[in-house]
Amino acid sequence: MAAPIETLGDLRRSGAPSRPVKQEIRDNLVRKLQAGEPLFPGIIGFDETVVPQLVNAILSRHNFILLGLRGQAKSRILRGLTDLLDERIAVVPGCEIHDDPLQPICAACRARVAREGDKMPIAWLPRDARYVEKLATPDVTIADMVGDIDPIKAAQAGLNLSDELTMHYGLLPRANRGIFAINELPDLAGKIQVGLFNILQEGDVQIKGYPIRLKLDVLLVFTANPEDYTARGKIITPLKDRIGSEIRTHYPVTRLNAMAITRQEAWTERLGARAVNIPDYVREVVEEVAFQARADRKIDKRSGVSQRLPITTLELVVSNAERRALANGEKLVVPRVTDIYAALPSITGKFELEYEGELRGAEQVARDLIRSAVGNVFVGMFEGVDTRTVVEWFDLGGTLPLADNTPAGELIATTRGVQGLTELAGHAGVAPGSDPALVASAIDFVLEGLYAQKKISRSDERGYSAAETAARRPTRREEQSINEEVRIPSGKKKYYN
Ligand SMILES: [Zn+2]
Repeated sequence: MAAPIETLGDLRRSGAPSRPVKQEIRDNLVRKLQAGEPLFPGIIGFDETVVPQLVNAILSRHNFILLGLRGQAKSRILRGLTDLLDERIAVVPGCEIHDDPLQPICAACRARVAREGDKMPIAWLPRDARYVEKLATPDVTIADMVGDIDPIKAAQAGLNLSDELTMHYGLLPRANRGIFAINELPDLAGKIQVGLFNILQEGDVQIKGYPIRLKLDVLLVFTANPEDYTARGKIITPLKDRIGSEIRTHYPVTRLNAMAITRQEAWTERLGARAVNIPDYVREVVEEVAFQARADRKIDKRSGVSQRLPITTLELVVSNAERRALANGEKLVVPRVTDIYAALPSITGKFELEYEGELRGAEQVARDLIRSAVGNVFVGMFEGVDTRTVVEWFDLGGTLPLADNTPAGELIATTRGVQGLTELAGHAGVAPGSDPALVASAIDFVLEGLYAQKKISRSDERGYSAAETAARRPTRREEQSINEEVRIPSGKKKYYN
């Protein structure tokens, strides 16, 4: 094993290279690529879109920006860049800007190296300490970002104000030899953007017109909402011009990917509590709520619908099931589709409404989303399955007074008389003889599915009952005529149903 490196002399003799941070990240990425190691662990669904662009930007040693709507893992990607830094780097002890002992840039460190020479001790900085993040807001100042003169420091030490020892360093110099991330770049005031441009242009920072220049070594990364970023006047053109790569993020494309993200992020395995078993159809409906919301014209597309919506929704869904299990003394916590309606508090705040949505109200919009999400998942799972027996039971006047706190045993007993319902529940993937909580959840799913399709109705007072339109439901003969082929002028056949 090599002798520990404790002094500047040791460091010099070790032959360890002094690399700019972008080169260091590039080298480590190249090594990972060659070894076939996973890049950006925990980032799901970006393998063929975002990740290749990110890799290219890093290989090119670019400063880059991630453009995407909220909740598209932008911050997570940026924080993941620390994995590409060396585990630790040598620094001059006590230097606020983490000077390289081999190439110090601040006056104090240069003086110290000259004074102490090879005997100067060195310190090690771990990679997590080399990532600095700032949310841009209009009130961020140059002093916050770059730094300021500290007159008290100067007075105490009897120093001239133009001496850099009087400096109070801002965030950017403190990120020297690391990664500096600015979120929501367009919210930064114009003059701060000019300051950033100078840093990108000259590679150094100048503080308040004082003749103090620091040749900083930083990887600058940004995030922005695409519409804000491209809007005229939000970003000064020369700054835009200096950002090497623009990379677009996106929401999960498939429900499967979305479920994997939510499974990874949501807190559902609750230590010390009862066992939790979340049926797949509950996970799918929760995810589908977000997909529906992103496509709904009552919801503002420019601000997007974050992946945090399904994540926090699933957490509340599990909590509602947990609450029911605790109240009823049930061992197994099994969420039901009805629990998703109890998760409205995690949905209504996650989107901005368009005018039409405002008229309907956030809560009603959220209820509509859940209902149509249930309908979509139900139709997918029950395609070609005959549900008529169950619907007819309601049409003949049957009602089921159920609520989201009904114990599993009671739910099963109450629904026992509904012919065909247990068979349908089995179709939701619950094996015969399963825990009552699982069976109850599957029955709940079938009832909610029929309700979503408006084949039965549901109210707080009566529970489930016949659809209000049952009396006017077309007879089988009428249905046939609706489904008949219709000849359209081009001669092609088209089926309406
Ligand atoms: Zn220094």
